[in-house]
Amino acid sequence: MKEPDSHSNPPVDGSELIRLDQVTKRFGQNTVLDRLDFSVNSGKHVTLIGPSGSGKTTILRLLMTLTKPDEGTITVDGEKLFPAPEKQVREVRKKIGMVFQQFNLFPNMTALRNIMEAPVTVLGMPKDEAEQRARDLLDLVGLADKCDARPSQLSGGQQQRVAIARALAMRPRVLLLDEVTSALDPELVAGVLDVLRDIARTTDITMLCVTHEMNFARDISDQVLMFDSGKVIESGPPEKIFSEPEQDRTREFLSAVL
Ligand code: ADP
Repeated sequence: MKEPDSHSNPPVDGSELIRLDQVTKRFGQNTVLDRLDFSVNSGKHVTLIGPSGSGKTTILRLLMTLTKPDEGTITVDGEKLFPAPEKQVREVRKKIGMVFQQFNLFPNMTALRNIMEAPVTVLGMPKDEAEQRARDLLDLVGLADKCDARPSQLSGGQQQRVAIARALAMRPRVLLLDEVTSALDPELVAGVLDVLRDIARTTDITMLCVTHEMNFARDISDQVLMFDSGKVIESGPPEKIFSEPEQDRTREFLSAVL
């Protein structure tokens, strides 16, 4: 399986693509992230693990500009995402795609239209080009025969695969994945994870994942970050984090979820 037109993406040179410097995020009295420093290099697959409520999803939401930090700076591909003027935020945001727990497809549109919509309306891509790309992407996620299906005619796993294709249609530099299988029936999880494994293996897109699927994290990650109470308490390659964690907290967490 090959990502269509991946040659037109900027080259992957291992440089820093995402950077959070001293980012603090509070909800009322609750300091969710406390002066967090964090970076992801271009082309890498980084997974955030840790207990519920430790701030993992908040990081993805900050990158999607769905919420704003109280302090600190966020830089994407060398350009400020926060703080930055609105026009710049809109441009930088185009480099980021996100797949959510709930697939959030447009219910009244076919799978093909769901994928074409943003490239046509946001990027101004000609319709025939957007349609060809949408067909290629449906093929990539194993749904070439579902172009004309509406979301209600698809299983949860198929809807999530359309949502992955929709995110890729914008040619983002980085794909954010927020517990993308947690709303699925157990028998549909493997199909979605297999598609993501293929994308990780065959494209040069950078991935930042929040997941409770530890086998998936082990398979695709270059680096795993263990979060606890808004801080990275341990990080390293998956073989180290999963086999020889240094922190008691990481060991406790892994023994509870594995
Ligand atoms: P995780 O992804 O690790 O489970 P989250 O980033 O979702 O953690 O949440 C971290 C903390 O922030 C939790 O205590 C959660 O209740 C709180 N939080 C997240 N979003 C909001 C919000 N919109 N309003 C208030 N509190 C929130």
